[in-house]
Amino acid sequence: MMIDNYYIMQEIVTTELREHLKGERLKIALEVNTLIRRKMSDILVKHGFLEIPPVIFSSVTDPLNHPVYDPTFEYEGSRYSLTKSMIFHKQMIVQEIPKIYTFSPNVRLETADKAKSGRHLLEFTQLDLEMLNASREDAMKLGEELIKGAIEEVVKKLPDKLAILNRKLRVPETPFKTYRYTEAKEKYGDDFEQKLSELEVDPFWIIDIPLKEREFYDREKDDEKGILRDMDLMYPEGFNEAISGGEREYEIERIKERVLAKGQTFEQFKWFLDYAEEGLQLSSGFGIGIERLVRYICGFKRIEDVHPFPKTPGKFSI
Ligand code: ASP
Ligand code: MG
Repeated sequence: MMIDNYYIMQEIVTTELREHLKGERLKIALEVNTLIRRKMSDILVKHGFLEIPPVIFSSVTDPLNHPVYDPTFEYEGSRYSLTKSMIFHKQMIVQEIPKIYTFSPNVRLETADKAKSGRHLLEFTQLDLEMLNASREDAMKLGEELIKGAIEEVVKKLPDKLAILNRKLRVPETPFKTYRYTEAKEKYGDDFEQKLSELEVDPFWIIDIPLKEREFYDREKDDEKGILRDMDLMYPEGFNEAISGGEREYEIERIKERVLAKGQTFEQFKWFLDYAEEGLQLSSGFGIGIERLVRYICGFKRIEDVHPFPKTPGKFSI
């Protein structure tokens, strides 16, 4: 890029950003952000979870199941990636500390087409947690408590702010409705997630996601080959994905089989596989995208509106 163009672009983006920072919408979003982080932390601490600091870069990170650019750098002769998710660190520490959570900054350099979704930022925070000897159903129950707790807290403490945004927010009943992935896809077609999200009025689960749709680390069912003991939580009103998680593969032979089935190498996940080789116990967990939750609560079309310094896929940002 020509250096002049670069400076002009910086100027345009900065001018827009200054207006955004002055806005009432952002201020309310940040109040929601502050309130729900505290509420969800309180719920987790009450259940005996310990907060761990985030991992910002690592030699092994989440391979994800969709293509993103991979920001890596070399330091003192070793190669590192910026964290896409702390999945392997979670699975490791939970063996010693049985309930952990973290507010994890993730960098996922999504392709430019994702800008249209209204829910992708290149840099975001997830409330990422893991629990030992817990089933998918235990994790789902906790996920419902956290999402319902966050919504209820905002409805109770910030009704005037929701009114300014013209947002009518329902406190959902638990347990949330559950759809099996394959059945939902058969009934509603390839775009079933968005369709269901537009039809539903409360958050709902999609469970039993097929192996090829996910990373290698979610556990395959013993009684149903190719289907995983995992789940996504979806927001209603078209807001789409809220949570991703599942039970984890913990037996080394099964982990290795799954790595190879993805066309990945043992080399890519070396320290994790070495650790798993010594024997892991079952764990379950999930991540809640914080900006997505704030966006849903505020009822904003664009996720950029909840972040003071949003990074949109395909766009220059300061
Ligand atoms: N944090 C994971 C992710 O970003 C979700 C999980 O815990 O499975 O995909
Ligand atoms: Mg995942």
